[in-house]
Amino acid sequence: MSDLDGFRDEVRSWLDANAPRSLRGAPGTELDGSWGGRKATYPDPDRKRWLDACAERGFTAPEWPRAYGGGGLARDEAKVLRQELAKLKLPPPLIGFGLTMIGPVLLQFGSEEQKREHLTRICRGEIRWCQGYSEPGAGSDLAGLQTRAVLEGDHYVINGQKIWTSYADQADWMFCLVRSDPSAKKQEGITFILFDMETPGVTVKPIKLISGSSPFCETFLTNVRVPAKNVVGKVHGGWTVAKALLAHERTMIADAFGAAQGSGGRRKSFADWARESVGFEANRLADAALRERIAQNEMDTRAFLLTTQRARDAAKAGHAPGPESSMFKIYGTELNQRRMELLISIAGPQALGWEGAGFDERELDLTRQWLRSRGNSIEGGTSEVQLNIIAKRVLGLPD
Ligand SMILES: Cc1cc2nc3c(=O)[nH]c(=O)nc-3n(C[C@H](O)[C@H](O)[C@H](O)COP(=O)(O)OP(=O)(O)OC[C@H]3O[C@@H](n4cnc5c(N)ncnc54)[C@H](O)[C@@H]3O)c2cc1C
Repeated sequence: MSDLDGFRDEVRSWLDANAPRSLRGAPGTELDGSWGGRKATYPDPDRKRWLDACAERGFTAPEWPRAYGGGGLARDEAKVLRQELAKLKLPPPLIGFGLTMIGPVLLQFGSEEQKREHLTRICRGEIRWCQGYSEPGAGSDLAGLQTRAVLEGDHYVINGQKIWTSYADQADWMFCLVRSDPSAKKQEGITFILFDMETPGVTVKPIKLISGSSPFCETFLTNVRVPAKNVVGKVHGGWTVAKALLAHERTMIADAFGAAQGSGGRRKSFADWARESVGFEANRLADAALRERIAQNEMDTRAFLLTTQRARDAAKAGHAPGPESSMFKIYGTELNQRRMELLISIAGPQALGWEGAGFDERELDLTRQWLRSRGNSIEGGTSEVQLNIIAKRVLGLPD
C-alpha cells in the first residue's frame, strides 16, 4: 500500500467519525460553506461542529503549515482530501477572503508576528476579512487610488473612501491599499495595510443591488489610526503585494465559478433541472436544442476542471499564481454566466419571478443568482482588464 493509499484510509475514517451525517449529500454548491467571523451565526449546529472539527485537524487550510493552524499536507495529500470530501458531497467547512486571499499573501509576504497573529484565527474561522481596494475613482485603474495614509509616530492615520467592499458589514478586519507617498509614481507610493473594522473612524454603509441581496458596502475612513506594524511587505511597496493578492483572488474566482461546478460537485445537474422543467420523450430530454446546449456546457465545464487541475498539479510546490490566473478568471466567470443563462432557458418563465405565490423558493433563488452572475466578469478585475494582462504579461505583446 502506498503512503497516499494509507493517507486516504486515514482521511476516510476521520470523515466517518467527524463529518456530521446531516451535511453529507446536502444540496447546494461549494460556495455555501461557513464564512466564520465574530458576527457569524450557526442556525444549524452541525455546521459549527463541522467547522470546529476540521479546524482542529487542520483541514480548513490543508496545505498551510501546521504552525499557523493548517494541516501541513503535501499537495497530493490535499488532493486526496478534496476527493474524499467530494465523494461525500460535504460543504466546505470554511470559505472566505481569509483563506483564499489574505492568508496566502501573509504566507508569502507577512512578518512572523503577522503570520502568528492572523493565520491561526483565519483557520479557526474566528475572523472574517474584507478587501479595501476599489475607490470611487479607482477600479480598473487601481493604482490611481487616493485614500491617504500619513505616518504619525508609530501609527498611520488613514483618510479616504473605499467602494464595492463586499461584506464589509460582516467583516472583522480589512486588508487595504493606501497612498503613503503622493509624490511618487502612482504604483510606487502605495502601501498594503491591515486593520480591525472596529477601529474608531471606520464607517460602513451597505449598497443595494439589482439582485436584491447585496454584498456591497461603501467604507469611509476618517482619521483611522492603524499601528505601523500592520503594514504587509514594504512601506510604499504595496503594489507588489496587491498584485500577488489579485492573482490569488482570480484563481479563487475561477475555481469557485468554474471548476467547483464540475459534475462531481454538489450542485444539481442541468439534466436534473431539465428533466423537471422540459420532460422526457423516448427516454431523453424532449428539447433537442436544449440537449445540445447542456452537453456542450457539461463538456466545457469538465475540460475547464481538468485544465485547472493540470495547472495546479504542474505548479511547483509553494508556487504562487501569476498572470496566467487571468486566463482562468475569464474562462471560469464566462462559463458561470453561460451556465446561468442556460438554467434560465431551462426554467423558462418560472425563472423570471421576483416574488409571489406563482414561484417556488428555488425559482426565486435562480433569478437572483442569474442577476448576481452579471458581476462575475467585473469583480476581481473586469474581463477587459484581464485581456490586457494576458496580452502584456502572458503573451508579451507590445503596449
Ligand atoms: C460582485 C463584485 C464584488 C466586488 N467586491 C469588491 C471588494 O470586495 N473589494 C473591492 O475593493 N472591490 C470590489 N469590487 C470592485 C471591482 O474590483 C471593480 O468594480 C472593478 O475593478 C472595475 O472597476 P470599476 O467598477 O471602477 O469600473 P471601471 O474601471 O470604471 O471600468 C468601466 C469599464 O471600462 C473598462 N475599462 C476600464 N479600463 C480599461 C482598459 N484599460 N482597457 C479596456 N477596458 C477598460 C472596464 O472593463 C469596464 O467595462 C467588486 C465588484 C463586483 C462586481
